Parts: sequence; structure tokens; C-alpha cells
Amino acid sequence: MSIVDATTGPRQAESVLRPGAMLGVLGGGQLGAMFAVAARRMGYRVTVISDVDGVPAARHADRFEVVNYNDLERLAAVAAKIDAVTFEFENVPADAGRAMAAVTRVHPSPDVLSITQDRGREKAFLTEHAFRTTPHRLVESRESLQQAVADLGLPGVLKTASFGYDGRGQMRLAADADLAAAWNTLAADRCVYEAWVDFAMEVSVVVARGLKGDVAAFAASLNAHSRHILDVASCPAPLTPAVAAEAKEMACCIAEKLGLVGVACIEFFVTRDDQLLVNEIAPRPHNSGHLTIEAAATSQFEQQVRAVCGLPLGSTACVSEAAMANLLGDLWSEGEPDWAAALAVPGVRLHLYGKGAARPGRKMGHLTACRPTVADAVAAVIEARRRAAPAVATEGRVY
Ligand code: AMP
Repeated sequence: MSIVDATTGPRQAESVLRPGAMLGVLGGGQLGAMFAVAARRMGYRVTVISDVDGVPAARHADRFEVVNYNDLERLAAVAAKIDAVTFEFENVPADAGRAMAAVTRVHPSPDVLSITQDRGREKAFLTEHAFRTTPHRLVESRESLQQAVADLGLPGVLKTASFGYDGRGQMRLAADADLAAAWNTLAADRCVYEAWVDFAMEVSVVVARGLKGDVAAFAASLNAHSRHILDVASCPAPLTPAVAAEAKEMACCIAEKLGLVGVACIEFFVTRDDQLLVNEIAPRPHNSGHLTIEAAATSQFEQQVRAVCGLPLGSTACVSEAAMANLLGDLWSEGEPDWAAALAVPGVRLHLYGKGAARPGRKMGHLTACRPTVADAVAAVIEARRRAAPAVATEGRVY
């Protein structure tokens, strides 16, 4: 039996899971793979649950289950053999989380997933708890879009309430936008319209909250996107000490108000007058936190293991300035990149996720550099990526 301090009955939920326990991760992508690596290093066993075969996390799992997320009976049967389930992917039907929660502990709870998988509910949560976010309106018809635009003006962004990521399911509406056409194009019956924020930068904070309510936030990272996909993250972000502290504080408060157990990433816009506006909450480790593997005392994935197992959270201290550059499938367009050339850049580490087909825009891996300054680290990952595929243009915008 892998449970210490086990109480009787189904509420073993509060107990510590010791190494040897079986952890489940729903979703089989790179986030699940890195979670599995961290969990197995600490002596846990891992079941990866995915609705598709051949996923990166399966290579690192003790057990791999392909399950349709709508097959609640099958999900419950799989979950019954797992001591705690967590997620690497939040866009699962809320009922899937509930079906598993009926038979084992599930962190974060299905209620947290339900809030964060719908932009309307997420904005309502933020507003209810007085966290500053982008000015917005819930839009459920063409007429209400017209009203939202009348209230907030143009330009703005129309986003589908659910199942949007990496810029999918959203449209920027320019000053002369045709609202009816925009509504028809997104073809969703529930959207959020946001005023356009002319931000100075985008930053994110990865925060963990343990079973006993302890919280720990990593330093904010600065995120540069290209084609709506994270391109380069660097840490610490160039915030004033007061704003850096406020970002961590807000992230911790959000985790508390959500009743989160696990890891979440809070994405912020930093306005030109240094206000933090929450853009989005992801209730799982995040691409911008990959650099914690090398650059923090505890990685975001170990933190997820600790949180769901009821262990004390690890130190989030920054052990080096660092930067991370994503490796998208585009980099393979001239053949396999030259990894030896990339790794010749001092301080650079390579992570490849083991995905088969290198399609444009697909996240195939990332590079991390730890260097004495953030600027050096950013230059190192961009140079390494350039050397990997000199003929392929990548973004690599440097702040
Ligand atoms: P999201 O999926 O909400 O994270 O949006 C993807 C990206 O679009 C963000 O990282 C921003 O760069 C941009 N974006 C989203 N919403 C806004 C907004 N209200 N104002 C300006 N840029 C935005």
C-alpha cells in the first residue's frame, strides 16, 4: 500500500502518496512526458491516459491507456488503478474529470478545470475575486457582439470561450471590422470580446499549491510569441522589483482562490504604466516554465509531482538566468537539424519530445540556456537554434 497516514474511506485524498504509488496524467504530450520523467525519477509509477496513440509521454510511462475522454466508464476503470490523477491538458470534458474523481483523487479538481477551460467562466472568476484582467464582455450572439464593441470600442479581440490555444479560435477586430462576418467566421455560440491592450510585454508566473494549501511561485518569465505561439521565454522578466513581487503574489492568490492543488501558469499583460492584467490561467505546467528544469531549484514538473502527492513544495529559487527557445516543426523543413552545431553553443541544453512528423507549427522540442545574464541566455538559445538549421528563418525576437 502506497498511502502513508491513510484515513479510512474514500477521503484518502488528504494523505501523502509515497514513491511507488501510481500517478496518472491525462494527456500524452510533452508536458505529460516531462511530468512522467520527474515522477519516475522520484520513484513513482506513471500511467499516461490519452485519447490518441503514439504520444510522446507514452515512452516514459509504466502504463499507457488510450481512452476516449467521453467514455466515462472506461475512464473510471482506468482511474481506479491510479492513486492520483493530474492533467497536462485541460480541455477535457468536465464529466471526464468527475468520473475519475468518483474513484480516485484528482488534482486539480474538475471544478478548477471547468473554470479555466471556458474564457467566460475564467473572466467571471477573476472579476469576482477582484483580479485585474483585460476589459471584456461575454458575447453570445451577433447583437451582443455589437453591444460589446459599442461598450469597449475597436480594435479588440474576439475569442471563442472554449477550446482555444496558441491563438486558435480568436480574431483581432480592427477599427473597420465587419462584426457580422467576424461572428460567422468564429462560428461559436459563446465568445469573449476583449478590448485591445497595447501592452509593454507579456509575462507569466508558474505557481504551485500543495494539498495543505502551501503555495510557491517561480519568478516571472518574459514571453515573446511568433505567429501566436511562444517563441522565446526568458527569466527573470525585466520587471521592477515591485511588479515582479506583485506578479508572484497575484499568482499565489489566484491559486488559493481557485483551491488549486497542482501547478498553474498565470499569463499577464504588463501595461505601459506597469499594471498587471491577467490574460489567461492554464491549470498545468506551461511552455514558459520549461526553463525551470535547468534554471530553478525545483522544476515545474517536480513541483506538480510534489503537489499532487501531498509532499512539501520545493524551492522555486532561481539558480541561473535562463532562456528557452521552442523548436517548431518548421525547423525540420531542410532535413534533420544539426544538433551537434546547436549544442556547441556554451550553456545550451536540448530537449526533443520524440514526436514523429515535424509539421510546421508543431512543438517538437526546445532549447534552454543558462548564462550569467538573461540577454546572454537569449542570445545563446537563438544562436543555437540558428546553427541547428541555418537555412530556416525563425523568429527569435530579442527584447
Ligand atoms: P491568448 O490565447 O488569450 O493567450 O492570446 C494569444 C495571444 O494574443 C496573446 O499572447 C497576446 O499576444 C495576444 N492577445 C490576446 N488577447 C489580447 C488583447 N486583449 N490585447 C492584445 N493582445 C492580445
